[in-house]
Amino acid sequence: MKRREFDEKVLRIGIDLGGTKILGALVDDAGNAVATRQLPTFAKEKHSEKEILQTISTIVQDLLIWAEKEGRTPVEIGIASAGIIDTSTRTIRYAQSLGVKDFPIGEQVEKALQMPVHLCNDTDAAAMAEWQKKSRKSDRFMYVSVGTGIGAGIVKEGKIMQGAGELGHMTVNPKGENCTCGNYGCLKHYASGPAMEEKVRMKGGKYREMAMPEIVELAEKGDLWCQNVLKESAQYLGLALVNSIHLLAVNEIVIGGGVLQKGDFFFSQVEAYVKRFTMPYMAEGITVQPARFKAEIGAVGAVCSRR
Ligand SMILES: [Zn+2]
Repeated sequence: MKRREFDEKVLRIGIDLGGTKILGALVDDAGNAVATRQLPTFAKEKHSEKEILQTISTIVQDLLIWAEKEGRTPVEIGIASAGIIDTSTRTIRYAQSLGVKDFPIGEQVEKALQMPVHLCNDTDAAAMAEWQKKSRKSDRFMYVSVGTGIGAGIVKEGKIMQGAGELGHMTVNPKGENCTCGNYGCLKHYASGPAMEEKVRMKGGKYREMAMPEIVELAEKGDLWCQNVLKESAQYLGLALVNSIHLLAVNEIVIGGGVLQKGDFFFSQVEAYVKRFTMPYMAEGITVQPARFKAEIGAVGAVCSRR
């Protein structure tokens, strides 16, 4: 894909709407977050929609003040939200973590703030953020988010594959435990943050209350139990990735999502598995790398999916 020229003056506002926090960012035309503002989501059962709109409004107002001081005016707002999204009607169809259903957030934010608004899924947004920062710009790119759940965003020839990427519900063990989706042995039960924590804690003793950052750190330092658990999870994730590569001819994979960011152990295990079990001609040149963006990934992606 041809590189486009950047307009230094243009700013956009990206909003990452998640179950615990809402992060807003002013994003320049090259896809860099030049200012950020974050507030808790405060989603409650009955008042979620109102609370979310108010919080987004506060964040946007703060970012507009910042932009004004710099003599710049943001041109539009992009919202990346958790849940099932209808991008054409700019509606959150269903998001359990936000406590909303059929919420026409795009229309309502546009009305409240008098700026053009578009809406996308947060994992898709993250995929676009990572893809647009790549120098290689591979034509079949997959971003995988490993956190409380597991999701994927697939970028094919510069465009996101809408509605695809339920990687966390790919079966990796048909005889495995029952999942909320109705299937058995879904990947999220083997390679999500909570799944790895549960496994580590089973050993008891000093492992009894261990959380992911410490597990990753101990694995890096050579702790065999933590290494075993991470290795097993990496292999399950690797299995799902190999299946994805064979189906979609993906040639570049980036893993983000927060729980694995500090350490090479997990990544090297995933990459080794992928290289070993992908069909030879498809494995050529394939890479598995950690995400470049950290907390601001969804907010940056919310706007760059439109540029
Ligand atoms: Zn499932």
